[in-house]
Amino acid sequence: MHKKVNLLNFDRQGLEAYFSEIGEKPFRAAQVLKWIYQFGVDDFNEMNNLSKSLREKLSNEAEIKLPEIVTEQISEDGTIKWLLQLDSGNSIETVFIPENDRGTLCISSQVGCALECSFCSTAQQGFNRNLTTAEIISQVVIANRALKCIPRNERVISNVVLMGMGEPLLNFDNVVAAMNIMLEDNAYGLSKRRVTLSTSGVVPALDRLKEVSDVSLALSLHAPNDELRNELVPINRKYPIKELLAACKRYISGESKRKVTVEYVLLDGVNDKPEHARQLVKLLKDLPCKINLIPFNPFPNSGYATSSKEAIERFRNIVVKGGLVTTTRKTRGEDIDAACGQLAGKVLDKTKRNIRRKEKEELSPGRTV
Ligand code: SAH
Repeated sequence: MHKKVNLLNFDRQGLEAYFSEIGEKPFRAAQVLKWIYQFGVDDFNEMNNLSKSLREKLSNEAEIKLPEIVTEQISEDGTIKWLLQLDSGNSIETVFIPENDRGTLCISSQVGCALECSFCSTAQQGFNRNLTTAEIISQVVIANRALKCIPRNERVISNVVLMGMGEPLLNFDNVVAAMNIMLEDNAYGLSKRRVTLSTSGVVPALDRLKEVSDVSLALSLHAPNDELRNELVPINRKYPIKELLAACKRYISGESKRKVTVEYVLLDGVNDKPEHARQLVKLLKDLPCKINLIPFNPFPNSGYATSSKEAIERFRNIVVKGGLVTTTRKTRGEDIDAACGQLAGKVLDKTKRNIRRKEKEELSPGRTV
C-alpha cells in the first residue's frame, strides 16, 4: 500500500500547493483547514462542502494522523500534561497551564534537544530528531480536543508558547509551518502576540525568522555576561551575547511597541547574586524587553539548587529599580513534572550523550559533568 500524505504537515500555502498538485482548486485548502482545526473533523467523508470525487480521492491518498496520547496527568493546580507517542522509541510532552485570564499551551519542537544547557533536564536526554509540522501542530489539536472534553469553560487555549522540549530555531521550516497554522484565520486564528517562540539564541535563524514570521520572541538569556553564559548555555560560545542582543533588536525593529521577553532561570549561588542583577540592568538598557525570572525547577542529578526566596526578591528589586519590567514566573505543575525544564518524554538518544557522560564520570569519579 502506498503511504498516505498527512495533511497536518501543511500550512495554508502547503495545502494549496498539494491541491494544485492533485488537480484541485487551491481554495479547497481553506475549506479543509476549517474542517480539521475549527470543526475537529478527521474523516474526509464528513467534509460535506467538498465534491464527492474529492472526498474519495482524499480518503485514498491522504490522512489526518495524530500521535496517540499515552498518558494525561492533571496537577493539583489545574496544569495538564500529555505524553504523546510519536514512533516506537520516541515520545514528547505537551503542557496546558490554565490561568485566570488565559490558557497557555507549552509545546515541544524536537525529540530531545541537541543543545546542552547545563540546567535543563531535556538536555540530559540527548537528541533524536526534529518533529514534523504534523507532530508540532498535533499538540495543539490534541490539547484543544482534550480540553473540550473537560467541562470547564476557562480551559481554552488562548496562547501557545514554544517552550517545551527542543530548540525551535533548529527545526526552522517545520516550526514556521506549524506557527502559520496557529496564526491562520481558517485554522486557529491566534494573534501573533499570543504565539511565542523561545530560543536559546541561534542568531542566523533569528534573522531568517524575521523574514517569514512575526510571532512574539522570548530569549533564554540566563546570564549577564559571556563567561557565565558560555557555561550555562553553551551555544553562547558560537553566538555571544552582544551579537544575540543585536539580533533580538533587529527582530523587533519596525514595530514600536514590541518587546522581547528575556527569560532568566535563577540558580542558587550561580547567577543570582546582586552583581549579576546589576550587570543585567546594564546589559539590557537598550533592548525593549521585559524580564521573566524563573525559579530553577530541580531534577535528579542537575547539580543546581533553587535560589532562596530572599535571593529572588533581592535580584528582582535590583532589576526593577534599574527600570526593567519584571515578572517572576510562578512554578506550575511541579507535582506532575510539568514545570519549565522538567519536560522529558522519551528520547532514543542519537547523540550518545548519556554514554559520554558516564564515560567522563568514570574517568573522574565523584565529579558530575
Ligand atoms: N530551547 C528553547 C526552548 C525551550 S524553552 C529555549 O532555550 O528557549 C524552556 C525554558 O525553560 C527556557 O527558558 C529554559 O531555559 C527554561 N528552563 C530549562 N530548564 C529549566 C529548569 N530546570 N528550571 C526552570 N527553567 C528551566
